Amino acid sequence: MGFGKASVRDADVAGRRVLLRADLNVPLEGGKVTDDTRIRASLPTIELLRERGASIVLVSHLGRPKDRDPELSMAPVGARLGELLEAPVKQAPAVVGPEVEMMARELAAGEVLLLENSRYEPGETKNDPELAKQLASLADLYVNDAFGSSHRAHASTEGVAHQLPAYAGLLLEREVIELTRVRDDPEAPLVVVLGGAKVTDKIGVIDRFLETAQELLIGGAMCFSFFKAEGRDTGNSLVEEEGVERAREILKKAEGSETMLHLPEDLCLGREFSADTEVELLNGVDVPEGWMGLDIGSNTIAKYAKRIGGAGTVFWNGPMGAFELEPFAGGTRGVAEAIARAPGYTVAGGGDSVAALVQFGLADRIDWISTGGGASLELMEGRRLPGVEALLDAKELANG
Ligand code: ADP
Ligand code: MG
Repeated sequence: MGFGKASVRDADVAGRRVLLRADLNVPLEGGKVTDDTRIRASLPTIELLRERGASIVLVSHLGRPKDRDPELSMAPVGARLGELLEAPVKQAPAVVGPEVEMMARELAAGEVLLLENSRYEPGETKNDPELAKQLASLADLYVNDAFGSSHRAHASTEGVAHQLPAYAGLLLEREVIELTRVRDDPEAPLVVVLGGAKVTDKIGVIDRFLETAQELLIGGAMCFSFFKAEGRDTGNSLVEEEGVERAREILKKAEGSETMLHLPEDLCLGREFSADTEVELLNGVDVPEGWMGLDIGSNTIAKYAKRIGGAGTVFWNGPMGAFELEPFAGGTRGVAEAIARAPGYTVAGGGDSVAALVQFGLADRIDWISTGGGASLELMEGRRLPGVEALLDAKELANG
């Protein structure tokens, strides 16, 4: 799917003020941005708008502030954005209000005003229509490029889209196109690699892929919910109790499905979640008392790599082990390398999986890296993303 007339590419923005919602929710340390990936991913739309003579009122959330926590001010983000744009970025003292309105009105073509952290306003996460109106009053039209926040109906991602002519930014549009293609029209065989810790978050997507994928490769802490459901010993491994029942249902459904569901056949164990713990390889998956499974083993890596190599399309979400700890990074590295080499079309998403790809220096060998972890999973599940729906609805209204 594309956005057609709801794409920013088709918006008439010259000489107009655009409220641009981007996903600038970056990690900070000591008042500095430590990873600017999301800022960089937002540049194409910002640059397109500037080139076309728009002025930009830019808004994003940053972390989860309680009240107006100054530690979560957008100022460091504005500073980094200014460096990347090689242009000054004006910093608003608040999200909305008379002073911000005045600053917005004074913007010249090509200028950028960065609003404060949208979550400084309690109405943001409540999708308060009053806040949406105040945001709308800052601009003539609205562009949403925050794919990573599009699964949440907040004032700056959903509410405001009903108050102004609304368009999809370049990143949001590309994300929806790439992920929808994997979901609805993948080159077969589709091989899905799932791991990480949050089983209950990802169970919906497993369910969906049992209908469309040829192979499902499971790793990470997620596999222990499955092993527990099979009645195996899991030792001290991380098991999400809530996930066990769901895992049992998935196993049952997989039996009657044409999709092959693969679980690890060997593991790398540690005594505790630490880089200098005692390490042992287990040829099997029944974890003894006093140990925890922290990575998939080498046979599993080889088997998964082979499946990935034969895929027409690969979708990866969630590390295969505790990759932040060097002794348990092998599974994630092995799978990441296999995906990087794979001749098929490769798509990865999830904050930690993407961090692993960057850490291994493999990010530029993946066809599409999604900036939206939760949003990419919800799209894959077939759920409606309120931030995306609002753009399409708004366009129907305008055209209908
Ligand atoms: P993503 O952000 O890619 O969606 P998740 O947030 O679901 O991934 O999971 C990432 C986390 O899972 C990492 O911090 C990693 O250490 C942890 N993890 C993976 N495998 C295991 C394991 N076997 N035991 C404990 N933690 C694990
Ligand atoms: Mg994560």
